[in-house]
Amino acid sequence: MARLLTLACAVLLALSAAGWTRSYFARDLVSWSNSAGRYVELTTVPGLLRLTLVQGWPKNQPLHWYHNPPPAWLPIFGQQAMDHGGITTAEGQRAVWLPTGSAGGMRLLTRYRVLQIPFAAVAALAFLPLLVQLALAARRRRQRSARLLRGLCPACGYDLRATPAHCPECGATPSA
Ligand SMILES: [Zn+2]
Repeated sequence: MARLLTLACAVLLALSAAGWTRSYFARDLVSWSNSAGRYVELTTVPGLLRLTLVQGWPKNQPLHWYHNPPPAWLPIFGQQAMDHGGITTAEGQRAVWLPTGSAGGMRLLTRYRVLQIPFAAVAALAFLPLLVQLALAARRRRQRSARLLRGLCPACGYDLRATPAHCPECGATPSA
């Protein structure tokens, strides 16, 4: 389980580092929509990852990864200017123009919400389990030495002043 978590964190770190670098050279856009009018867009701007949820989308589109440049008709919500460079959200309304085949296009008003996450924050997430492990190990060490000082079993805290060589409670042998 711990090994799996370490592996997942290593993968997350590698992916975020790769995406971070790539975001300065290429524009990626992954989008998908369903028949209920929900459109999901994941896109990158230099150093940042943006997830946009749109309501009122008229087309049913399969999942697609657009390499740069995405088709000109596709509105890119997440590449609109945002005020902050950190983790931030934005929402609003936007008119989009969609092609409807040979007949031309249609204009519609959509509502959107954007969540922006810097790649640096995604990379930092990968170190979180390591920090938690270090903090827990330090706490165990502190607890153990505090118990030894007070003549208690370092493993379970039982009073060992009468039987210092062997814990009758948990079987630990602290002097060994
Ligand atoms: Zn004990």
